[in-house]
Formats: sequence, C-alpha cells, structure tokens
Amino acid sequence: MSNKTLPFTQEQIVKICENFPTPFHLYDEKGIVSNARKFNSAFSWNEGFREYFAVKATPTPAILKILAEEGFGMDCSSEAELILSERAGVTGEGIMFTSNATPIKEYRRAVDQGAIINLDDISHIQYLEDGMGLSGDSLPELLCFRFNPGPERTGNVIIGDPKEAKYGLTRKQLIDAYRIAKEKGVKRFGLHTMVASNELDESFFVETARMLFSIVVEISKELDIEFDFVNFGGGIGIPYKPEENPVSYETISSGVKELYDSMIKPAGLDPLRIFLECGRVITGPYGYLISKVLHKKEIYKNYVGLDACMANLMRPGMYGAYHHISVLGKENSPADHVYDVTGSLCENNDKFAIDRDLPETNIGDLVVIHDSGAHGHSMGFNYNGKLRSAELLLKSNEQIVEIRRAETYDDLFRTVEGY
Ligand SMILES: *Cc1c(COP(=O)(O)O)cnc(C)c1O
Repeated sequence: MSNKTLPFTQEQIVKICENFPTPFHLYDEKGIVSNARKFNSAFSWNEGFREYFAVKATPTPAILKILAEEGFGMDCSSEAELILSERAGVTGEGIMFTSNATPIKEYRRAVDQGAIINLDDISHIQYLEDGMGLSGDSLPELLCFRFNPGPERTGNVIIGDPKEAKYGLTRKQLIDAYRIAKEKGVKRFGLHTMVASNELDESFFVETARMLFSIVVEISKELDIEFDFVNFGGGIGIPYKPEENPVSYETISSGVKELYDSMIKPAGLDPLRIFLECGRVITGPYGYLISKVLHKKEIYKNYVGLDACMANLMRPGMYGAYHHISVLGKENSPADHVYDVTGSLCENNDKFAIDRDLPETNIGDLVVIHDSGAHGHSMGFNYNGKLRSAELLLKSNEQIVEIRRAETYDDLFRTVEGY
C-alpha cells in the first residue's frame, strides 16, 4: 500500500489560496530531497553512479536546481531542455542528450555544452560528423548509442512494444555503429536503452541491466573498445493508486549489483559506471494539483466541476491514467459518493476521474490531485485558451515560494497579430 497522506494541512492550503488563486501545482521540497538521497544511496556501491533527471518531466528551474544540488545530472531531449540545464548550473558530462529526429543545431549546442551525446540511429554518426565539420570540429571523444531491443523485449502499456517504437538502433546496427565510431576516432563509449514507462516491477530493470551488460561484454571484446557507462533509461513507476506499492530502489540496485559482479567483473570491465535517467519516480509523488470545486451537476451521472482542467494535467484524459484525489478536510470521511471529476474544456475526455468514490463533495471544496509532480504541468497546453497555472514550492523550512507564475492573457496572445 502506498501512503496517500499529504505533506500540508488544509489550513496551510487555505492560506496559500489567499495569495495564489487556484488552480496551481504545489511541490514538496522535503519529499523531493529525501527521495533523491535515497535514490543515490541505493546505488552508491557503483563508483561513478549517476541519475540524470529527465528534464521533460518537470522542466522548472527551481526543481532542477534542487536536484542538481543532490548531484543529479540532467537528461535532455531538446534544445530548450539544454538551455534549462545550463541555467540550473549543470554543465559538461552532467548532461546527457538523448533526442530523436534531431536538428543539427541542437546536436551542436549539446556538443558545445560538453554534454554526452546519445545517438538515436546509426546514420546519425555521419550526420553529426558532417554538422560538426561545418565549423572544423570533429566527433566528440565520448559517444553513446541508444539500443532498441525490438522483439528481444516486450514493453509496457505507456511506452509500447520496442519493435513498434521509433527509437534507437537494432542489435545488428549497434556493433557496426561502435566500429564506425571507433574508426572515426571516438575514444570512450556508452550504451543506453529505455524500454519501460511507469513500471512497478523491479525485476524489469534488473533484466534491462542483464541485457545491456551482455552487450557490453560482447562488444568490448569484439571491437576492443572500452565502455565508460551503461544507461538503463528511466521508467521506474510510482504508485498512483493507493493499493499499489512503491518500487524498492534497494531491490533494483542489489539485483543489478549481482549481475555486475557476475558479468562485468569477470570480464575485466570494472569499473563501469551505471546511469539512470528517471523523471517520474524522482518528482512525481511530490507534486500536487490544487483546485477548487466550482460546480456540481446531476444528470445521467453525477459530476463535480473543477477550476482545473486537462490543460493542467493531461494524463487522465490522454491515457486514462489514475490520479488519486483528496477532498481537503474530508480525508477521513467515508467515500460514499460516486462522481466524475471534470474540467471545463470542450472535450468530454477532460475528466480527472470517472466513477470515483469520494466523500460528499460541495461547491467551494478544495481538492488535491495527487502525483502531479512529473509529466504534470510540463505536459500543459493552451487549448480553449486555458492559461497555464502557477507552480509553487513548499520549502523544507515551510515557506511557500512561487517558482513559476501563472500565465496571463498577454502571455497567451503575445505571438499573434492584432491583439
Ligand atoms: C521520458 C524519458 C525518460 C523519463 O521517463 P520517466 O518515466 O519519467 O522515468 C527518460 N529517458 C528518456 C529517453 C525519455 O524519453
């Protein structure tokens, strides 16, 4: 069972709402920091271990800075994310650039920042070399490739089947890619994959380690090259539902360590650095979307209408994802009413919950939508002219800081003619 308690009181939220109108996302610094430390400590047996936070999950500078202070690197997949990482003070190999269908301009910026480049295709070696050549530069000294295991692995619901996925190189291409890169003067190598999303089964990640370790053993021998690191990707899940259990970092780590000791060490490949690039599990549980009940209606079903909508959190509408909902002040009341909890978009999938058991909910109640800390605000959009909300941080010292203000109509219309 996961713990769906809140790190703040109803009184605190009511007070915050006096200064900041709902809806807004609220992040819990204490929770983020203690989780980051647990994560790092679980893998501390591996010298050079590093978690590269997937910036796309929560691209908010104040959050990135908290994580950078805990020693995290940044996993970027676009130029905007490279800029954010730079502003958060993360430089050089503290950045991993894992992109696809990448414009050369973005690769060049990543190289200029000293980021580790993770190529998505064998043809990108030439693409990158040509692009670098425009200014007389050559390939970076360290290069990583993204492996797509295709039929070797089955994926899961959100990420889909690897053989249907657009990412990465096939097994056969992989060996050619390292050979070509070596011939072109690349000195150090990394291997990456990403085959899970929101996966709660620890053994899935241990199997990913087995797969990558065996490739490293095979390719280092065949090509006489040295691997600097393996990156198992992100995708560690979180217990969105109260009946689900959080993933044990220790279980993943000890499974990986066993394989490291039995596969990497005997092959003489120790030290090999282990990287992860999780987003969701790092910040997801420590963000909350706070919203107010504006309306109730009773037609063929019973509805509760909020001042937040799918533009603030699209996962339920987009994937039918479960997000737990608490009605503030009624956490211990019996959940003896059934509602669809909706937003105001002109889209019928703009629902945070369908047929959800909740305590009797009234107009004016404050509701908390849990686990919005990753892939929440960041997936926001402006359909129906909805403004993107503020993000607030509950600091470890209990202070509230606005880390992103809410959008205004001036922001929304800034790019159009005739406003
Ligand atoms: C999205 C993504 C991640 C992070 O995924 P989470 O599910 O948030 O852990 C990591 N790496 C890559 C390449 C991604 O696209």
